[in-house]
Amino acid sequence: MSRHLSGNEIQDYLDGGLTSDARAEAEQHLYTCRQCRSLQSSLTEVDRALKSLPREQLDARFTRSVMSRLTAGQADSLSFKILEKLAYVFALFVVLAVLLAAFIFSGVIDARQVSDGQSRIQEFLSGSTSQMKSQVAAFSNLLAEYAPFVFGVGSLCMAGTIFAVVALLAVLDRFLVRRFVH
Ligand SMILES: [Zn+2]
Repeated sequence: MSRHLSGNEIQDYLDGGLTSDARAEAEQHLYTCRQCRSLQSSLTEVDRALKSLPREQLDARFTRSVMSRLTAGQADSLSFKILEKLAYVFALFVVLAVLLAAFIFSGVIDARQVSDGQSRIQEFLSGSTSQMKSQVAAFSNLLAEYAPFVFGVGSLCMAGTIFAVVALLAVLDRFLVRRFVH
């Protein structure tokens, strides 16, 4: 072979991608040509450098960073999760109500029994609301005693306090999600 080998041919030779005839020719030429041998050793150097790159470490780090970005997009806030759970409960109530309505309509359940149950539920609810009212009253008394500024300038301070509490909860929410979900 009189002509010099191209870079591609030398790379193919190094990768073992030549036919046996071409390989023999390349070997013959490399044996006699200093210039091509020098190109060959350069390409071998590049190959070795590429192979010695900490590829697995890079891959692992890359994968981790991509995955964390993906999961960051998917992670729901704590409040969303709570709402999600509440939505299930709400859906259950809706289903139960529909079932109850269907039973009453088809006469499987006596409507009088239902109204009996309703009055019992109402009793329970009114009992618990009065209890809740007294608790709210106790809480506002506590607030008036220890945090009088809440009732300071009417509803403005109240709104400010509520806003501050909500903002605090939002910050806590982000913090908790960052801390425990990831
Ligand atoms: Zn040559």
